[in-house]
Formats: sequence, structure tokens, C-alpha cells
Amino acid sequence: MILEQIIIYASVLLLVLIVLWFYIRLQKKTSKKTAEKIEIAKQIGMHEPVSLHPVIDLGTCIKSGACIEACPEKDIIGIVHGRASLVNAAECVGHGACFHACPVEAISLVIGTEKRGVDLPHVSENYETNVQGIYIAGELGGMGLIKNSVEQGEQAMNSIALTLTKKNSDSYDVVIIGAGPAGISASLTAKKHGLKFLTLEQDSLGGTVFNFPRSKVVMTAPVELPLHGKVRLFDTSKAELLALWNEALSKNGITIQEHTKVEGIQLDGDIFRVMTAKGEEIKTKNVLLAIGRRGSPRKLGVPGEGLEKVAYRLLEPELVIGKNVVVVGGGDSAIEAALSLVEQNTVVLSYRSDAFSRVKPKNREKLDTAIAEGKIEVKLKSNVVKIDKELVELAETGGTQALKNDLVYIFAGGELPTQFLQKTGVEIKKRFGYTVKKHR
Ligand SMILES: Cc1cc2nc3c(=O)[nH]c(=O)nc-3n(C[C@H](O)[C@H](O)[C@H](O)COP(=O)(O)OP(=O)(O)OC[C@H]3O[C@@H](n4cnc5c(N)ncnc54)[C@H](O)[C@@H]3O)c2cc1C
Repeated sequence: MILEQIIIYASVLLLVLIVLWFYIRLQKKTSKKTAEKIEIAKQIGMHEPVSLHPVIDLGTCIKSGACIEACPEKDIIGIVHGRASLVNAAECVGHGACFHACPVEAISLVIGTEKRGVDLPHVSENYETNVQGIYIAGELGGMGLIKNSVEQGEQAMNSIALTLTKKNSDSYDVVIIGAGPAGISASLTAKKHGLKFLTLEQDSLGGTVFNFPRSKVVMTAPVELPLHGKVRLFDTSKAELLALWNEALSKNGITIQEHTKVEGIQLDGDIFRVMTAKGEEIKTKNVLLAIGRRGSPRKLGVPGEGLEKVAYRLLEPELVIGKNVVVVGGGDSAIEAALSLVEQNTVVLSYRSDAFSRVKPKNREKLDTAIAEGKIEVKLKSNVVKIDKELVELAETGGTQALKNDLVYIFAGGELPTQFLQKTGVEIKKRFGYTVKKHR
């Protein structure tokens, strides 16, 4: 009897030890793999965060791994010795899914690091900048996420509405610049207050959300959309979100003026003149900047760039078939766009430098394979000098070459919104490791 009991206890103990051994082995393996990834990330300059990113309080972290599960970007966070650690922090887009997923609130969302500062505009509690009458809402102020932008768009417009006393039919009460989540929410709020307003968007409605390649959008908490009510979306598609915004705007008779880039704002007495790239001048008492932090795509400044076949983003590569395409740029966006087109098109990737740098190792590998298989032609040290209906002229070391061409995609980086703000007179401060979100 006693022997039987000893055997049972010993078996259970053995089983526990085996499970523990496998668990420790798995942990070690995971740690080793993550440590290797961190090393690679350091070598290619992706380990250091560039903007909003999670900071993990290791004393509070209970090693649940929930943050890693929740992050849709993959390999931003990994587990080393059972604890969450940053891996490719530079790729963090700041949507904060890890922050919401952590069961013990061990994650804070922080802008910049001790070493690398991030330029943030000065904004008061009512969202006004140092320039009286110019307000800021959304990610431009430092806080990422759709939900935050929607909330700030509403709050900033409520503040503007409070300042408006006398009606002046000659000018708008407010011009909203940017139609991302913050601009849309501000537009709905302006309507609610019966303001005379205009919303200008350089691209098309939706903002950053619609320009990123991931088809799913993560909104972890419900948000109140002005004049519409509570929106509870989790793991929704971009199309669903866009449909919702369009419905809310059209139900309230709001039209966003798309494809209108604002190039400058000038104060003229107590009225602002908002200048667009089309040469319009719009008079307004207040301006709400809801332009996000991603800036405007940088143009090459070459003849023919205004043609319809030239684009600065590629949303549905699967619909581009049988075309001669030139992709311009040397970063991940250019390489990913070019690779997404190679199977169904003839693709030339043109880059002005003599090598690709700061590119994800996976993209580099895929590009090398595509080159080896003759699926893509890469022209380093080449510059687009002219675009016309059927051709693209490339200047290379040996001279100029004309390529047969149907479409041009340019990924030459962006003009930062900070430059726009400085021109407008809005004060900017460099923030080093500034916590924007600590508690849910
Ligand atoms: C890859 C990626 C994935 C993300 N995933 C999520 C997610 O799943 N969930 C989430 O909550 N958040 C996510 N985010 C973050 C989210 O997209 C942003 O926080 C949010 O879009 C910010 O809203 P915004 O209105 O402040 O700015 P934006 O969405 O950036 O909108 C700004 C708008 O202003 C326009 N604009 C800029 N300059 C001018 C100008 N001079 N004239 C006229 N118009 C101008 C732009 O074209 C743009 O449409 C993600 C971001 C990225 C990059």
C-alpha cells in the first residue's frame, strides 16, 4: 500500500519535473531567439524607438505574454528570461494594443527616449497652441490611437465653440485641417455646435488608418463618435471603419474637401488666411490642426509628377495587373510595394543611393530572391528626371534612359508636420521619454 503510494507520488513528481523541464527549455529557447532578434534589431538600427512606444515596468510584469499576443505588428516586443522586452521598437506604430492587453498595467506608452527626443508642439489644456486661435488635436499633439484622436477632436472643437461670440458671415468660424479620426470627429462636433466650418484634406478621408498596409484595425475600447453615438469596434476592417465615418458625415450633411493640401496659414489682423496648394485663400477665425504626425509625402519635383499615373501610396497591389511600373525609393515601403507587384507586372525599382540601408532583413532577403529570379530590376544610383504619359526618364551614371511606363509609385519619405508648424509660428519642444498614457 505504502509502496503504491510512493510510486504514485513519485510518478506525479516525475511528471511535474518533466513538464517543468520542457517549460524551462522552451523559455530558454524563446529567450535565445528573442535575444538574437534584439541583436539584429540593434545592428540595423531598429531597436531604438523613434516615436510612441511601450515601456515595460519589469517589476510589475508577470510574464503573461499578453502584450506580445495583442501586438498586430509582430516582433516589436519579445520575451527574454520570461519578461517582456523591446525588440524592433522603431517599428512600433503606437496603437497601444499591448498597453490595453497587459493584465497588470505594467506598460506605459512613451514618446521619445532619454537619448532620442521627439518634437512635440506646445498645446494648452483646451488644445490651443501658443498662437491664439490655432488649436491641435489628435496624434500631432503626441497621443496616438484612433480612440484618443476621436476624443481630442471633439474636445478641441468644444473649446473652440466656447470662444465664438459674434457671428461673422465673411469668414469661417473654424477651418479643420486633416480628415483622419481627429478631423472627422471635430467636423461632427462643429456641426453639433452649428458652427460655420470647412474641413480640408490633402488626400482622401480617413487619415493614416487607410494608408497602412494592415487590413485590420484594432480598437480595443469603445469610443463615442459625436452626433453618432457609441462605436464598439474590435479587429474591424478598414473598409468597415471608413463606411462608418462616411455614414456619420453624410447623415449630418458634412462634405470634406478632399485633395486639398494646406500649405500655409497667415494671421491677418484677427483673421487667419489658410492657403492651399491649389492657390485658394480661406478666411477663418480659428484653425484646428488635425494633421497627424506622418506629414505629407515628399515629391520629387520633376516634370510630369502631377500626372494621374503617379501615386505616393499603393493600397491594392492585387488590382495592378500587366503594367510597366516604376517604384521610386529605398526604404521598406518602396521595397514592399515593389515586391507586392512583381508577380503580375514588370517592375523597376529606382533608388538614388548606391545601397539600401535601414531595411528589414526579411524585405532585403525577399528582394534578393526576386532579383535572382529575374522578377524585378533594381536601378541603384538612379534618379527620375521626367515622367510623361508613356515613359519615365531615369538619369543614371552612364546617362539618361527612357523606360516604357504605365504607373509610378513614389516613396521618398515625408515632409514632417513640424516644418509646417514652425512656419505657422507654433512652438515646438523636444521631449525625451515623455509618458503619454499610464493608466487605462
Ligand atoms: C501602421 C499603423 C497601424 C496602426 N494601427 C492602429 C490601430 O490598429 N488602432 C489604432 O487605434 N490606431 C492605429 N494606428 C494609429 C492611428 O492610425 C493614429 O493614431 C490615428 O490615425 C491618428 O489620427 P489623427 O486624426 O490625429 O491623424 P491622421 O490619421 O494621421 O490624419 C491626419 C490627416 O491629415 C491630413 N493632412 C496632413 N497634412 C495636411 C495638410 N497640410 N493639408 C491637408 N491635410 C493634411 C493627412 O492626409 C491625414 O489624412 C496605426 C498607425 C499606423 C501607422
